[in-house]
Amino acid sequence: MLTKEWYKVPFSADCPNCGAQTRSAAIVVGPASSVRDAGFAPESDILMKPWGRLDAFALVESLAGRTEDIERSIVNRFHSEFAFTNGRLISICEHCEESLPPAATRSTVMNGFVRLGQRRLLVNERMLLFASDAALTEFRGGTSLEESPMQDPDYALMLICDAESVNGESGTIELWHSIARNEYAIVVKGHEGMEMLRDALNDDLKDVVAAIADLRLVLTQLHLAQASSPYCALARDLFLEVLNDAGYRQAS
Ligand SMILES: [Zn+2]
Repeated sequence: MLTKEWYKVPFSADCPNCGAQTRSAAIVVGPASSVRDAGFAPESDILMKPWGRLDAFALVESLAGRTEDIERSIVNRFHSEFAFTNGRLISICEHCEESLPPAATRSTVMNGFVRLGQRRLLVNERMLLFASDAALTEFRGGTSLEESPMQDPDYALMLICDAESVNGESGTIELWHSIARNEYAIVVKGHEGMEMLRDALNDDLKDVVAAIADLRLVLTQLHLAQASSPYCALARDLFLEVLNDAGYRQAS
């Protein structure tokens, strides 16, 4: 899931852990959010399937995958309401900080979203949220529920590179890797997060570097998709080595 349209929805609930009534919050994403379906077979090339518009409001049941921006945008700002547990974003009790399970709060949150939204009391946070693994429950006419868990079973996001074009436009290049396919892929996104290109390449990172050069993009920053992942760190080291061999130099 990729979005810059999301809302923090406050709610009150009885904590199943400590029994006290607690205030917390949940995330609802808007129709402009981009999603990819899980309906694809693991063997298919998920990167060749275009992002689709969500076209509905949806409650975020869980977010995982790339977590840097989620931590910055949600957990650090709203630390009494959200936490990361086992790499997943959860709503927590303000008293005991235990997880409030979505199943117990879903209808409260969804009703609250409709009620507060009608009174224009919700604000679009407009910060980029990207999660390779998101479980959403779509609003259908504000009442009925539909589950749509999504994940990329085949490709894993390794690196996110900030990039600039020769015209000074900024964007990002994502480096994905599939162990099963022994293949790298890149996704190039413009500054609004609009996907410009996705390209599956072979297992040679030289081809990735060549493709970036062909696109006349200059890399300005490299970020690990998951800060603590040794797999991502390895991908970074390999990538930097190939960049170096191709004549790229890191600015100090
Ligand atoms: Zn509690």
